[in-house]
Amino acid sequence: MSSAKTAAKEIARLRQRIRHHEYCYYVLDEPEISDAKFDKLMNQLKALEAGHPEQVTPDSPTQRVGGTPREGFLSVRHSRAMLSLENAYSCDELRDFDRRVREGIGRERVDYVCEHKFDGLSISLQYEDGVLVRGVTRGDGSTGEDVTPNVKTIRSIPLSVDRDVLKKHRIPRDFEVRGEIIMTRKAFEQLNRQQEEQGGKRFANPRNAAAGAVRVLDPGVTASRRLDFYAYLLLVDGRLPLKRHSDSLAALKQMQFRVCADFAACRSVEEVEKYCARWEEKREKLPYEIDGIVVKVDEAAIQTELGATAKAPRWAIAYKYPARQETTVVNDIIVQVGRTGALTPVAVLEPVQVGGVTVSRSTLHNLDEVERLGVHIGDTVLIERAGEVIPHVVKVVQEGKERRPFEMPGKCPECGSRIHKAEDEVAYRCVNAACPAKRKESLLHFAGRHAMNIDGLGEKIVDQLVDKEMVRDVADLYHLKLESLAALERMAEKSAQNLLDEIEASKKLGLSRLIYALGVRFVGERTGQLLAEHFGSLEALKDASEEQLVEVHEVGPKVAASIVEFFSESANKKLVKRLVEAGLNVKEERKAPKGTRLAGKTFVFTGELSTYTREQAGELVSSHGAKVTSSVSKKTDYVVVGAEPGSKYDKAKSLGVAILDEAAFEKLLGK
Ligand code: AMP
Ligand code: ZN
Repeated sequence: MSSAKTAAKEIARLRQRIRHHEYCYYVLDEPEISDAKFDKLMNQLKALEAGHPEQVTPDSPTQRVGGTPREGFLSVRHSRAMLSLENAYSCDELRDFDRRVREGIGRERVDYVCEHKFDGLSISLQYEDGVLVRGVTRGDGSTGEDVTPNVKTIRSIPLSVDRDVLKKHRIPRDFEVRGEIIMTRKAFEQLNRQQEEQGGKRFANPRNAAAGAVRVLDPGVTASRRLDFYAYLLLVDGRLPLKRHSDSLAALKQMQFRVCADFAACRSVEEVEKYCARWEEKREKLPYEIDGIVVKVDEAAIQTELGATAKAPRWAIAYKYPARQETTVVNDIIVQVGRTGALTPVAVLEPVQVGGVTVSRSTLHNLDEVERLGVHIGDTVLIERAGEVIPHVVKVVQEGKERRPFEMPGKCPECGSRIHKAEDEVAYRCVNAACPAKRKESLLHFAGRHAMNIDGLGEKIVDQLVDKEMVRDVADLYHLKLESLAALERMAEKSAQNLLDEIEASKKLGLSRLIYALGVRFVGERTGQLLAEHFGSLEALKDASEEQLVEVHEVGPKVAASIVEFFSESANKKLVKRLVEAGLNVKEERKAPKGTRLAGKTFVFTGELSTYTREQAGELVSSHGAKVTSSVSKKTDYVVVGAEPGSKYDKAKSLGVAILDEAAFEKLLGK
């Protein structure tokens, strides 16, 4: 077999495995392998595809991320209007709906399907020959925006659907799936935490955050947010291909889409009412927010017969849950230090029942929010629990007679360090890396796979180490003893020894990881690497001024200021000293700045090179920041020509693209 054929086989095998694991992880929530193993498979596939660019297909798992920001959105017409839904706010209104439906078709009884009403952004996904080709927002209902590169980054959206499954359900290979892009509560909280950490604005709710993440020109932004997709409609040429809506949901599930796991067939409006009541109580426990229940007529033929008004279908209705609000008095506003060191004002409330839960505290997020609300201690406020477990203050309804404004303290209430505030940021924070409020978070970050890679140091262990005061900061890790570790819960002597070995091994990892592991704000993995290469030692970095820092490629004033701020804290200076004493490798060989020499350039290879395989050549250019594509266009920067080049060579000549022979290529690489 030719090498191309062997590679094709291997590529197909890898893709299948990766798709399976994406499905397990992102749709079923039941991963079968570790993240590290998954990354390894993905890297193998990437490497193979780099060596065989002609075999990259649009539905390869490698094609989820990527694409450069675009200049605008294209408008696309919908095959059938994406309508809104009529609302019902009471059981009476549900019964009215049921009566209208039955009268409309002249039947005694109608089957319904109830699903959660996802609170996100509706989207239409179009598949051709089983492969995802287009993702379009609802827009004005008749035309939407083409957001294909963005939706491709969402891992619970299959890039292609198994043709045998389609065949089994007699669904043609060209079809459309509609559904909702949402953000889970967890992803939403994580995003807001991250926004605060980076001095950005908080998102008001998961819906806004999800919509904002999809309707951006840069698909990289979409990729960086954890979004999910739930399918609720299957169409072929704008029509329902299956007899019942419940059949569609079952088919969609087999096509490996996520569908509402709790959808139920109801044989009467009474059953519908029970479903709505049941989920009103349970909805707080769902991983995502819902604002109601969507009730749909199950039979496709009845749906068609009933049709739609200009605004909404007549065969469906949304039963909306009421928001839960209550008024109470703000007895005090205190400050809590978050896990990232941000100081959060919290309203201490006169306890009050809201939707069956006693509420006595509510976060005010930051000083800006306190000012926006105009809330003082002593005021009476309206609070709301809208799907969220944590209630929030909506507004001041009455100013207190002896009201008192809130003031940010100058010192951290946990450790007494000075409070920092960057000019262009909302948050006030404690930057002491060893502040007790941040201890656990700092330790987990330090141990992370991309930081010091101390695999055995998970949440359960960190909790115990901190609570038992065995570890106060990351340097203490290097002084842990076998006996005391082995005495912890869930720790046998063997695992304790393994952990110690991992901690020991982490000492050698080098400066770039260590810089990242310290958890300086805005300093990610890549910045850590650049800083390590530039400064060569932790001491040099510690003493660097803002001017010296911005000399580093890709380090801007904001990052520089944050680094200087970090090392200006005396507790952090001490920490560095102790890490050095513990024997960590705090040096890095200085290299010529790598990774930027050919940044942004695009290469195409044709013919055989004598010193490199395609794969090696590809890795070489990408290590200098360039990328390899398979075909020549005006956007190609260089075509590298080896022995017996193919048609790409002629194309390059005709387009006037720079052509390099092997010697010129080496020269360009600086060899
Ligand atoms: P509204 O925009 O409030 O009129 O509600 C209509 C929207 O609800 C639809 O456009 C969908 O985006 C959304 N929706 C959420 N969950 C579902 C569901 N299970 N079935 C149908 N539509 C849903
Ligand atoms: Zn502190």
